Amino acid sequence: MGLLSEGRPLKWTEIKDALKQIRTYGVDQLIQVYHKCKNRQRDAFTWGDEVELTLVRFDHENKKVQLLLKAHKLLPALRKLNEEIQDEACRIAWHPEACDFVVEGVPFQPYGFLPSHFNTVEANMRLRREQVQKLLAEQSDCDFILNIAAFPRYGQGAYTHPAVEYGPPHSAEESLCFPDSLLSPIHPRTKSLSENTHERRQGKASVNIPIFKDSSTPSPFRDDLFKDDPNVKDDHIHLDSTAAGWGCCCLQVTFQAESFEGSLHLYDQLLPLCPIMLCLSAACPIWRGYLSDVDCRWNIISAAADDRTAVERQQENMLSRYGPTPFYLTDEKKHLNDLDFPVCDEVVQKLISQGIPETLSHHFGHLFVRDPLVIIEEFLHPKDDSNSYHFENLNSLVWNTLRLKPPPLDDDLMGWRVEFRPMDIQMTDFGNAALTVFVALMTRVILTYNLDFAIPISQVNENMNRAHHRDSARQKKFYFRFGNEISEMCMNEIINGNNNFPGLVPLARQYVGEREDIDADTRFTVEQYLLLVSKRAAGTLMTNASWIRQFVLSHPSYKQDSIVTEEIQYDLVRKMEQISNGHEDCPQIRQPNMETHTDLHAE
Ligand code: ADP
Ligand code: MG
Ligand code: MG
Ligand code: MG
Ligand code: MG
Ligand code: MG
Repeated sequence: MGLLSEGRPLKWTEIKDALKQIRTYGVDQLIQVYHKCKNRQRDAFTWGDEVELTLVRFDHENKKVQLLLKAHKLLPALRKLNEEIQDEACRIAWHPEACDFVVEGVPFQPYGFLPSHFNTVEANMRLRREQVQKLLAEQSDCDFILNIAAFPRYGQGAYTHPAVEYGPPHSAEESLCFPDSLLSPIHPRTKSLSENTHERRQGKASVNIPIFKDSSTPSPFRDDLFKDDPNVKDDHIHLDSTAAGWGCCCLQVTFQAESFEGSLHLYDQLLPLCPIMLCLSAACPIWRGYLSDVDCRWNIISAAADDRTAVERQQENMLSRYGPTPFYLTDEKKHLNDLDFPVCDEVVQKLISQGIPETLSHHFGHLFVRDPLVIIEEFLHPKDDSNSYHFENLNSLVWNTLRLKPPPLDDDLMGWRVEFRPMDIQMTDFGNAALTVFVALMTRVILTYNLDFAIPISQVNENMNRAHHRDSARQKKFYFRFGNEISEMCMNEIINGNNNFPGLVPLARQYVGEREDIDADTRFTVEQYLLLVSKRAAGTLMTNASWIRQFVLSHPSYKQDSIVTEEIQYDLVRKMEQISNGHEDCPQIRQPNMETHTDLHAE
């Protein structure tokens, strides 16, 4: 959600008056970071994941499930609980999210270089849910913490516990169905971000998602709630608030590189993998209670978080600040930056004059095209040059599929990091661990075998769009490079190989096979994860999105009208709870021999 600093957030008009000054502070801080940290060498390969988790309450009598607005009560208790845990490997860092029904959990200590750490990810993720579940259970046996990428009827009817009021008087963004009371009261930043986005944009957020047309879906489909709204398109599901996007949950992984150059190289090689992993992670087929024709959340948050003015929306290549990664960073890959995204020329020239490489200066120049949407008053004018608040703040308010995280000025232990951000959260801890470990293995594979997957940005973006389509893992082809060839390949070829390309999973197996320091237990775990990725790409396992879709389509009360009723949602989320807590098996989304694996890790 962005940098969390205590204090009073400025109003948009106050930020607007100070924009020039803030930009100067930010650029100067970036230059200072660069000079201080450009020669760091041999930083450890540390890494960590972030999972966003959803709180829900079941009402078994009425066959209902609602979002539980309780994060603000749980977070202080969780903080206290973890302060008392001595063993740092068992501690969790909990972060507030924009919505009060979401919490973010992160391992307290990042994982380290040891391959055996691949074996601790899933247990750590399970521990996170267990910590929260235990607190919830003290109050009620109907409350649960689950991995839900987009709550099916988020924005439809009355969908929270406790009940809240809906409609424009209850929303700073004038939303009809996403009131301000959804937002986390724990940090003033949240409300400020929502208000300032709305004011800068000068109008309501407008998200249109193509509906899945079933045999009894009205044609054209028109959402009654928005029948007088000119922003609404026929045959589309409509969302009208930034909160529609911030309520979605994702899985992110951050990797520290050994050096500044290493971080740019890693970023450039992870860039083309973003749409591939988005496609494999797809988990969002339902929006506001309707089955849609998309499977992932990315483009939906992109539209919801869009702060561009009407004029900016007309400018070519001026995309939402929540969007695909616009540039490769190394000069070597500059020729693949084939889309002309706007940059702040003055900033680019200043950075180049300070010795920052040209292509990287363009990346930063593009960051500085954006206005900082949140500024905490106490940090507006730096008292000294001991921290890099303005740069960090801006960097954390631009949400691309990758984020280069330079070392903060006030933390000498932190190196250059790359954050991998495209993936939807998976229903099970196993699924989240599998994708996390797979991406971590890809970073090792790329560096060890010196692979080059880079393709033009325009093709990466086309892949991003294809990844969103219903059942893209089985239906779509993606641009992919191997050697000197770029061709369109299906997911099965990219992951499992073809005559010309060994495939990402076989490459990962080769890497694991060649490392002598991996113990048998870790090998077994990693192989289960590789099997999940491999089978999903081959189509023998379903993505979460396909499984959810199929659950709705085959529900006895579904009427072929694209509508996901309260009852269907109840049964679906109940099923997700049973599966993710190990009470029920689900062979369509994970391989059946998982029981052995779970036993191995019972601690
Ligand atoms: P943000 O929300 O800005 O992305 P978080 O603090 O929520 O940041 O998450 C940061 C992630 O980076 C966590 O997964 C954490 O484990 C990981 N991390 C923290 N320090 C390091 C480090 N030195 N090297 C690599 N990863 C790190
Ligand atoms: Mg988050
Ligand atoms: Mg954050
Ligand atoms: Mg975070
Ligand atoms: Mg989020
Ligand atoms: Mg993050």
